[in-house]
Amino acid sequence: MTLGALFDEAVGRFGDRPVLLGPEVSYVDYAARVNGCAHVLRDLGVGRGDAVAAVLPNSPVLLTLWLAVAKLRAVLVPLNPALRDAELAPLLAHSGAVLVVTDRPVPWRTIRPEELDVTAPAAPDVRVEPDDPVTVLYTSGTTGAPKGCVLSHTSYTAPAPAFVHRLGLDQDDRLLACLPLFHMAGQSFAVSALQAGASIGVVPKFSASGFWDQVAQFRATVFRHLGEMLTLILRSPVQPANHGLRLVYGGGARPDVARAFTERFGTTVVEGYGMSETNTVLCGDPGAPRPGSMGTPLPPAEVRVDAPVGEVGEIQVRGPGLMKGYHRDPGRTRAAFASSWLRTGDLGWMDHQAHVYFAARRTDVIRRRGENVDPAEVEEALGEHPDVLLGAVVGVPGEESDEDVAAFVVPLPGVRLEAADVRTWCRTRLASFKVPNHVHVVDRLPMTPTSKINRSLLRAAGAHGRNPLW
Ligand code: ATP
Ligand code: MG
Repeated sequence: MTLGALFDEAVGRFGDRPVLLGPEVSYVDYAARVNGCAHVLRDLGVGRGDAVAAVLPNSPVLLTLWLAVAKLRAVLVPLNPALRDAELAPLLAHSGAVLVVTDRPVPWRTIRPEELDVTAPAAPDVRVEPDDPVTVLYTSGTTGAPKGCVLSHTSYTAPAPAFVHRLGLDQDDRLLACLPLFHMAGQSFAVSALQAGASIGVVPKFSASGFWDQVAQFRATVFRHLGEMLTLILRSPVQPANHGLRLVYGGGARPDVARAFTERFGTTVVEGYGMSETNTVLCGDPGAPRPGSMGTPLPPAEVRVDAPVGEVGEIQVRGPGLMKGYHRDPGRTRAAFASSWLRTGDLGWMDHQAHVYFAARRTDVIRRRGENVDPAEVEEALGEHPDVLLGAVVGVPGEESDEDVAAFVVPLPGVRLEAADVRTWCRTRLASFKVPNHVHVVDRLPMTPTSKINRSLLRAAGAHGRNPLW
């Protein structure tokens, strides 16, 4: 199915129900905006296969633009607006964009987002195939330079029905969308809303202190988290009086954090797993949440671990939703698709019920004195320290061993934390080879736009033995 067809079906089924919140816009009225936007783009010459870049803060315009581009058989390249000009230019050049939607003065053919704000009763009549590319999505860049994943309509529409069914989303759900629509997690969350006939409250940027206000403002029932968001919400002094949040879905929260969230707020937390290259391929069951598990494969995707049941191996994915390749990067594309299974570079294990558990990214595992150190395990010990807001652990070139364990810890506001105390704390909880050799107490950690810790920056800083400033 194409993205346009999925949207049209939602408009047909849920017509007067709200699709956007704050201010509310119905499915039918929103369709007119999407159609209008498609006409503006077509009049500018955008057609089959043309790349339209967007450098915009997280807002519903990104969704409108994406759906309009989808109807024109064109391709959206949503870029992170936090990028500086010098970072943006190579991505724009690499994407081959014919047009950039932005308020910023970039040396490119541009159009401002307000100019797309036109309505029309019908979209231009363009035949679109499910296998056509619809997005070039640059990855978070957690491990290095971002890669441009070329995604088809099917990449988004294939997992949507099973995802909505598994999470039990329906037209009464109100989704709080803090995750950027220039990222896979934000996009797939939006598609799941359209699939379910639910409504979406888009907020420009995640903020732990503003979180409960946003939940109240949108009367949100479902929230999609990523990275460190749940930890930051739990450790924030701002707490809700009461709320209607029934479900939190996402990836990357430690089991102890997920459990604490449910205990504190009474909200079910379910994990899933996916990447820009694959969309969502694993998802838990809110009826039987299992902290620590990322759930079972989400059809039509197939997921396997290249190791016997219960043992750690690489997580591999197959299915119609996979990306078509890395944009203009045949070498990396070949490497990713060397077999019919996409190699994710993530390590995990599967149990007898096909539940998959995350171990670590292959590149994050630390080799010390011949042993493997899982940074997540050390981070869990750090996170349990009563004075620690966030902790991150990376491997750095070692003096005597293969690698040393370097920890970066952010204390809670106003609290003084000594590196020596942190090491003592770790010594009581971890085997000696896992205790960080270096502890840096820092004000904050470098984060990706999806609230993940940017480990490549930490590794670089740790390797130079300095207490970094970002
Ligand atoms: P880059 O590829 O540029 O380094 P990235 O891999 O962080 O960036 P994304 O595609 O946004 O960019 O993220 C996918 C990755 O997120 C996965 O490969 C995995 O490492 C991690 N991830 C996804 N789900 C989970 C989860 N439930 N628990 C832990 N990690 C997860
Ligand atoms: Mg990746």
